[in-house]
Amino acid sequence: MRIVGIDVFQVDLPYAGGSYLLSGGRTYDSFDATLVRLTADSGLDGWGESTPFGANYIAAHAAGVRAGIAEMAPGLLGLDPRRVDRVNQAMDELLTGHLHAKTAVDVACWDLFGKSTDMAVCDLLGGRTNERLPLISSIHSGDPDDMRSRVADFRALGYLGHSIKIGASEADGGPRLDAERIEASLADAKAGEYFIVDANGGLSVEHALRLLRLVGDELDFVLEAPCATWAETVSLAHRVAVPIVVDELVTDEASVLRLVSDGVGEGIGLKVSKNGGLTRCRRQRDIATAAGLTMSVQDTVGSDVSFAAIVHLGQTVDPRLLRCVLDVRQMVTTSTASFAADVVDGGVTAPETPGLGIDVDPEVLGTPVASWG
Ligand SMILES: [Mg+2]
Repeated sequence: MRIVGIDVFQVDLPYAGGSYLLSGGRTYDSFDATLVRLTADSGLDGWGESTPFGANYIAAHAAGVRAGIAEMAPGLLGLDPRRVDRVNQAMDELLTGHLHAKTAVDVACWDLFGKSTDMAVCDLLGGRTNERLPLISSIHSGDPDDMRSRVADFRALGYLGHSIKIGASEADGGPRLDAERIEASLADAKAGEYFIVDANGGLSVEHALRLLRLVGDELDFVLEAPCATWAETVSLAHRVAVPIVVDELVTDEASVLRLVSDGVGEGIGLKVSKNGGLTRCRRQRDIATAAGLTMSVQDTVGSDVSFAAIVHLGQTVDPRLLRCVLDVRQMVTTSTASFAADVVDGGVTAPETPGLGIDVDPEVLGTPVASWG
């Protein structure tokens, strides 16, 4: 099987909640998605998506996704999409870094691989577990009472996991406001619920230490991505008792290994586009499993194609270590494809359909913004 065509599509994904407020005063109203269609000489096609969370979340931006694909595309024609490690090796030889640009191509290869073998992607990635994967809510930072009511809304849908965003500037209330947000969000916590307090790298070590002193030891949560740098995270991790999950600082196999060797965290955020696609996420999953790290399988943001990749990857993680998966579709108002995943009571199961199990909507995608082959 050979790749004979590469088409790139651009879609705007408006945020479903109006404005998404993140630490550091970052706000997002809409996300710029890139979808890739790979066509094989057999006539089959495969789809992948890469949607950065704006340009100031991690070192990834939407125009860079498309520029990266343009840089690599001529060198990818003729490759066998089923040989996923070889395709990734070729992409690394054509373009250094820029994993977010490689993700859409990599995921499309897995979709093609699945369709060509009549197997679901999760079964090719190692085999599905029998678990229904717990979905996690994404509670953007805001007024504490409003955050409490939004947690309640997700609880009513059956969600057991909640990701509480914090990171107030000193002028807005600093650690005291963040402590109130945590206390309000956890005020109605039920047995079996799991809370991640996520700062998206927005706190100084001082802010985090003041915050943890204000909250006290009674509330049960893990602290995700407290600080922007490794040095700060190491400093904090070695002085506090709260479990730490590393997200934005873990972007590839090397950084998962660094997390283990530095002993700075108990879990990772495994986000398909941030961590370089399914081929690389498979390796990171295996390193994390060997190290006993928990995993939250997510993406930065995205539409139905991104969600399909999340679900297939999450379906292969040891249930003892899988904390949650994120239904990115809830964050945006545009649907790019149908995805026959079973979502019941705050949980999801990967479909048995070959490949990702998606059916892309050509009306939404429109005409390609670039094509090769
Ligand atoms: Mg996070």
